Amino acid sequence: MKYFLAIIGGGPAGYTAAAEASKKGKDVVLFEQNTLGGTCLNVGCIPTKTLLYSAKQYYNATHADKYGIKATEVSFDYQKIAQRKQKVVRKLVAGIKQKLNNDHCTVVSGMAFVVSRTDDTVVIACGEQQYEAENLLICTGSSNFVPPIRGVQDNTAVWDSTSALAANTLPQSMIIVGGGVIGMEFATLYHEFGVPVTVIEAMPNILPNLDQEVVKILRDKYEKAGIRILTSTKVMSLNQNQVTAQTSEGETLTLEAEHILISVGRRPNLDGLEALDGLEFTRKGINVDEGMRTNLPNVYAAGDITGKIMLAHVASRQAEVAVNRMLKTIPVQRIAYNAIPSVVYTNPEIASVGLTEQDAADIPHEVRTMPMTFSGRFVAENEAETGLCKMLVDSKHNTVLGVHMIGNPCSEFVAAASFAVRMGYTVDECKQVVFPHPTVSEILKEIL
Ligand code: NAD
Repeated sequence: MKYFLAIIGGGPAGYTAAAEASKKGKDVVLFEQNTLGGTCLNVGCIPTKTLLYSAKQYYNATHADKYGIKATEVSFDYQKIAQRKQKVVRKLVAGIKQKLNNDHCTVVSGMAFVVSRTDDTVVIACGEQQYEAENLLICTGSSNFVPPIRGVQDNTAVWDSTSALAANTLPQSMIIVGGGVIGMEFATLYHEFGVPVTVIEAMPNILPNLDQEVVKILRDKYEKAGIRILTSTKVMSLNQNQVTAQTSEGETLTLEAEHILISVGRRPNLDGLEALDGLEFTRKGINVDEGMRTNLPNVYAAGDITGKIMLAHVASRQAEVAVNRMLKTIPVQRIAYNAIPSVVYTNPEIASVGLTEQDAADIPHEVRTMPMTFSGRFVAENEAETGLCKMLVDSKHNTVLGVHMIGNPCSEFVAAASFAVRMGYTVDECKQVVFPHPTVSEILKEIL
């Protein structure tokens, strides 16, 4: 049998593509060497958010006094918390299996290798079998990057995000190398459970790619709460659980913790693709055009492997676009990379979409800012917090270029801002939208 589409990798890109193509009656074979759901469901977004939810419950209980609640004997059972995380993962993985359970979709367990490719056939081996398909979609994802720092390899004190999620106990203390998204979410988790945390970040600030005014609010709050944040500081070497770092002024620091979490980015997984002669890729990932096509005619790629924006929701949208390109759907689909929302699940959450002030430096624009306290619901539910909502408006076209927020639960309504940016709505058009009252989302109306 010759399949219409072979997909390597069963994460958000792979399973979305398989569901999309098979729903349209095309025969699909999907290969997954671990568990369906990929990094996001098994060792990324979902387990992290499940643990963070428990951490937030505990934090809220221990800080309930400000809402007039006396909770005197609050404790937690981390083993139970870790077990619940696994239950959530199992449930969602079962949901993916269910989604792919149709006559047109074959799921094969094992590591797949490309054997050969011509312009009309790709041959893939998995276990003892070979499979033929007209098209190939590479969705092999990314892995935690292990930096070439002395003492990181084969060090039992070192964790990456996968080992941190697998642990059934909390560390006594934690040093986090890399104050990016993963680093700051784990800093939140451990801090809320009472673990002393130090974050070491090479750049002048944590979360360097986000709006820096928003990040400052988080940093100030975290430092006041006792998280040690060392920026412009580079880790030079590790010796078991001892870290030697150097500040930009040349000062050498020696720090110690039970575990050291390395979260300095991820790298694309290119193994198994060696037979794709001439496939163009860089260190960041496989090169693709706007239809997710590689330079080889019947080979497409989607998700982290493309190195564009390593987010699960980008991966699934890329997969939809790739399948629709293969099917030659009209009108041709594209991804609006200018309107990808992103969330950092710190406490408070950060959510943003569109251009930052740094990005928009060459576009004449107006910056509007407003504390979240302009929303009544925010004031009711966020004692002693101010939050911030920032909107960038194109001065010439009066359209929304970007929105950046800090304050709970901004992750839940950033999609409304994504609509505005994606559709190129003007401020006057946005003003015609009615927001429910009282909700924190009303801040997006107030700021117009
Ligand atoms: P990242 O690129 O977001 O952050 C890595 C940080 O490590 C950077 O700030 C970098 O300056 C710093 N760094 C690098 N080398 C260093 C060194 N030697 N010493 C100190 N600091 C150093 O990468 P990440 O946090 O590992 O996340 C990986 C990917 O996963 C990202 O693309 C991220 O967007 C994605 N992710 C997203 C979410 C979410 O959407 N909520 C959650 C987790 C991960």
